[in-house]
Amino acid sequence: MKPIAEIFPLLNTAPKQIVITMHQKPDPDAMGSSLGLFHVLTALGHSVTVISPTNWAGFLNWMPGCEKVIDYDYRRPEAEAVLQKAEWIFCLDFNTLSRAKNMAPVIAGLACVKILIDHHQQPEESAFDYGISDTAKSSTSEMVYDFIVNSGNKDKVNIAVAECLYAGVIGDTGSFRFPAATASVHSMVAHLKETGFNHTLVHENIYDNFLENRLRFIGMALLHRMEIMYEYNTALIAISKNDLLKFDIKTGDTEGLVNYPLTIQGIKLAAIVIDRDEERKWSFRSKGDFDTNTFARTYFNGGGHYSASGGRSSDSLDKTIQKFKQSIKENASLLQ
Ligand code: 5GP
Ligand code: MN
Repeated sequence: MKPIAEIFPLLNTAPKQIVITMHQKPDPDAMGSSLGLFHVLTALGHSVTVISPTNWAGFLNWMPGCEKVIDYDYRRPEAEAVLQKAEWIFCLDFNTLSRAKNMAPVIAGLACVKILIDHHQQPEESAFDYGISDTAKSSTSEMVYDFIVNSGNKDKVNIAVAECLYAGVIGDTGSFRFPAATASVHSMVAHLKETGFNHTLVHENIYDNFLENRLRFIGMALLHRMEIMYEYNTALIAISKNDLLKFDIKTGDTEGLVNYPLTIQGIKLAAIVIDRDEERKWSFRSKGDFDTNTFARTYFNGGGHYSASGGRSSDSLDKTIQKFKQSIKENASLLQ
């Protein structure tokens, strides 16, 4: 993978057919970084299409440009036609092709130039021609901001770009509370604010944009589905298919639920497992010195960051919960 700076001179030459894609079930950072880049590359005269491997949470729909994003799962022929014509593909907020789900083999087979911008650990560098992978960065949205500035396009940052990138940064930094919210993140936000965008509205659009059923579901989950294992300073929330059906839970409604157990004194590891149709999906969050990335990789076919990772299992819900309990026993010395 060659340094991303090598593509800067090519941005201002002939217009290109460009696809931007992100990880499946995109979060605010994946969607925000993709749309922020979309607006800037479009302003430079390129023909740009954003494709998500799957559907996304409704609380992202307010983002400028989101109405143009193609859901690969639902509009596959159209998405594939665009992918086949692409000269460049930007892969944002993921670093192993498997995170693009059903799109992964299609991306792998494309002959076009593949460009990575990502901040997760252990990138699959051989899959990309150019790129930047930096685990110290708060978010892919911050990296897209750096890309815009370093390629000489700071003047292209308008209100739409600022809204998208700001959404990504607050999503991945827990609204500036995690250690990755560095001085440069705050400097970037100061510049984004100069466009005049309304940051309060962005917070409301993301965090105050649910239906009653989701809040009732959270209440139920914390009361009846959370198990605390004090001997391992660990909390587990397990959500069945029936729970999802009963509360009419949609993509995005479970986002953030895993953070609640970390508010309990002494809890170092919080985990949630959700029984989705095709797999059991895990999310892990930690406080202090427990590496969830290694944990997710070792036991649940996943990965991510030190303090926030995810994984999956094809075992039944009961079986994957048993495996989790066994794995925290094996990690007892790191958790106590
Ligand atoms: P979440 O728990 O919010 O789905 O994901 C937390 C972090 O872990 C995100 O940065 C996400 O990209 C990453 N992540 C989630 N699931 C997986 C997975 O199955 N594999 C890998 N490699 N990373 C994941
Ligand atoms: Mn991210």
